[in-house]
Amino acid sequence: MNTSLLERRHRLLGKAAPLFYDQPLHIVRGQGVFLYDADGREYLDAYNNVPVVGHCHPTVVQALAAQAAQLNVHTRYLHENVVDYAERLTATFDASLAMAVFTCTGSEANDVALRMARTLSGREGIICSSSTYHGNTAAVDELSTIFSGGRTTSARVRAVPFPESYRPLRGLGGPALLDAYVAEVEEAIRSFEAQGLGLAGMLVCPIFANEGLPEVPAGYLERVARLVRQAGGYLIFDEVQAGFGRTGRMWGHQCAGVVPDIVTLGKPMGNGHPIGGVVARADIVDAFREHVMYFNTFGGNPVSCAAGLAVLQVLQEEQLLANAQEVGAYVARGLRELRATHAVIGDVRARGMFWSVELVADRNTREPAPAAAKAVLNAMKDRGVLISRLGPFDNVLKMRPPLPFSRGHADRLLETLDRCLADLHV
Ligand code: PMP
Repeated sequence: MNTSLLERRHRLLGKAAPLFYDQPLHIVRGQGVFLYDADGREYLDAYNNVPVVGHCHPTVVQALAAQAAQLNVHTRYLHENVVDYAERLTATFDASLAMAVFTCTGSEANDVALRMARTLSGREGIICSSSTYHGNTAAVDELSTIFSGGRTTSARVRAVPFPESYRPLRGLGGPALLDAYVAEVEEAIRSFEAQGLGLAGMLVCPIFANEGLPEVPAGYLERVARLVRQAGGYLIFDEVQAGFGRTGRMWGHQCAGVVPDIVTLGKPMGNGHPIGGVVARADIVDAFREHVMYFNTFGGNPVSCAAGLAVLQVLQEEQLLANAQEVGAYVARGLRELRATHAVIGDVRARGMFWSVELVADRNTREPAPAAAKAVLNAMKDRGVLISRLGPFDNVLKMRPPLPFSRGHADRLLETLDRCLADLHV
């Protein structure tokens, strides 16, 4: 490890500026599904979802470089790229989601979505989940329940328990469990109305990624969508993690079969180049634009849109959604086999090329094992494979590689995980 670089960073960015791992990594190069540190050591990247088509993909790099060499300005001049990109992007959604607003980050996209819902409904209340993160602007931070034990910091935001089957609400099961989770949303709407705030909308990730990728009781999103709309609110899906092929479908909400009113995008959109956006119904975008002069200096610039177009092109040319389904299912099978030999694995959940492995101290009580998760991800790094952890108890191993992840890469991930779990002494 480069200690002088770490010291300078501490001095200049602060010791609390987040870093991964007990011994931080100094990465200097990336290619495909691999990262390389300053000593030339190779790491299989099973964590980073942003480089969705692979680190430094030549098609994306060339598109960025060519456009940067020609022109980069804001969107108050006419330019083909922003229109071409909006056209190609909206074509991947349900026909009702026909217009786009571009931003630079996922946080900004969620901020715009909240403004749309509040401005157009004339109401304030937003429902989110009890263990989530949607970004870092002041308005979006009001929804960051992952850092506050499930509580929200604002009267205009209410958190409902996220739907799951592994630690079900009040120990319920079957239809009663689904009813109980839906009733929480009904209650949140009622309380907003009683307070005079009213419901502006509900903002959730359609696969509840930050919640630990739970198994969601079937029918949950359909039922809450109906409730939110009946109350005059907007249904907002945050596709910042779930989108761009991660689940094996282009959009996470396509797995659930529910079409939202507003979708927010980010992370993989530019394969590492900062671009985010909102895709929504045309009437929503038009009405919002009439009420709010929204302008984002860098959002939708020609270079960002060139990157976005290149990502869509590579996803298609390399059939990466099909790969996410095929290799995703292969890894899910392998992880379930590991569960048979390692008692610390309480549950394995998978959506395309996104896998979560919940570690527990006891399979019967399901007591979370966060120290084991931390030990495993550090040991994986020492053996040359990068993963992370997530969930309300920080005990869920999180794996979400770039989509050109092959069966060979999967075997290396599974073998390394098997060894690290075998070595576990916590
Ligand atoms: N939404 C979700 C679901 C996220 O996971 C994140 C970032 N982790 C964001 C939004 C915020 O995106 P950004 O960091 O680009 O602002």
